[in-house]
Amino acid sequence: MADTRHTKVLIIGSGPAGYTAGVYASRAMLEPLLVQGIEPGGQLTTTTEVENWPGDTEVQGPDLMVRMEAHAKAMGCEIIGDIINDLDLSERPFTAKGDSGTTYTCDAVILATGARAKWLGLPSEEKYKGFGVSACATCDGFFYRGQEIVVIGGGNTAVEEALFLTNFASKVTLIHRRDELRAEKILIDRLMKNEKIEPLWFHTLEEVVGEDNPTGVTAVRAKHVKTGEITEIPCKGVFVAIGHAPANELVKDVLDTHMGGYVVTKPDSTETSIPGVFAAGDLTDHKYRQAVTSAGMGCMAALESERFLAEHGSPETSEVAQKETAEA
Ligand code: FAD
Ligand code: NAP
Repeated sequence: MADTRHTKVLIIGSGPAGYTAGVYASRAMLEPLLVQGIEPGGQLTTTTEVENWPGDTEVQGPDLMVRMEAHAKAMGCEIIGDIINDLDLSERPFTAKGDSGTTYTCDAVILATGARAKWLGLPSEEKYKGFGVSACATCDGFFYRGQEIVVIGGGNTAVEEALFLTNFASKVTLIHRRDELRAEKILIDRLMKNEKIEPLWFHTLEEVVGEDNPTGVTAVRAKHVKTGEITEIPCKGVFVAIGHAPANELVKDVLDTHMGGYVVTKPDSTETSIPGVFAAGDLTDHKYRQAVTSAGMGCMAALESERFLAEHGSPETSEVAQKETAEA
């Protein structure tokens, strides 16, 4: 028979927002359950050095997330390796279904599902995904030792990935649609000083060119945004770094969203349009999208769920809770 778990607070997501919510909700004696999802530790597990986490001049992203998990666990948060595939917010207790077959019911829920890499949507990008086209330099950079690589984008991720890839590649071409990068100044400075990196301004990716036996990338065709002129750049790897979109699949039809799918929260709050449902981190933040701001929102969400539960309590109709209490 399928397993059912009831909790006062269910936290969905294990990035900085989720784990911080786990620390605070545990310290509020709410005995939270935290479901990690497909990427335990979240986006920072796909990068190397993090230089803007207060207290650490430099820390490896995956190490930081292991520490956050351990911290949440030590405070009493139960961490569960599962993926939520359905969430019913129509009445309290809310119900979440996991890929494992477990059903989770909860009196309040903290959504911290973060964001995922965007793709350009080209048929050739799709064809060579996993065969030379990637969105994660830390994961795949190693395969391109001594090879030429292109990176698409002009934000922090694109610049960091270009810099990181110079550890392996013979040359990195950064293709950007403008002649100005939106990355932080310190990163732009490093990029400009790196002799292995050549920016190609005012260009977009038109097509990934490759071969079939074995499947692999041989070049890209880049198009000048003003003249339409095509430049072919030989390369073995293509790293797409054009931003991230909120992972809102569980709630996009039931919660208010804006700015391309970010969950709307009330001003200075993590409250969403449904009482008892809180959203934190990149899922709701179209502006800052940083580890530290996500962690801050995780803290807010836990404190707000504590206040919500103090005021509204657990729904008396919670059959599962009653059954669990009776069985205990
Ligand atoms: P995420 O970290 O995105 O985590 C989301 C979590 O939700 C994941 O654990 C995932 O498994 C889970 N999840 C999603 N769907 C489900 C589901 N259906 N069921 C259960 N769980 C689910 N920020 C900085 O401040 N400094 C940096 O140096 C920095 N470097 C970065 C480098 C890269 C390459 C990238 C991509 C981002 C970087 N960022 C950096 C941004 C930072 O990683 C994010 O702002 C932060 O991770 C957002 O935290 P989050 O908790 O909201 O979500
Ligand atoms: P981003 O800041 O949104 O930048 C996306 C880049 O891709 C932009 O330069 C954009 O061009 C370009 N782009 C978007 N769509 C495109 C398209 N269809 N074709 C070509 N180019 C396209 O995304 P990000 O760099 O992934 O960063 C996401 C968040 O994570 C940010 O808040 C960032 O600060 C944070 N982050 C922080 C760090 C750090 O602190 N060290 C590291 C990585 C990420 P335009 O500039 O022309 O719009």
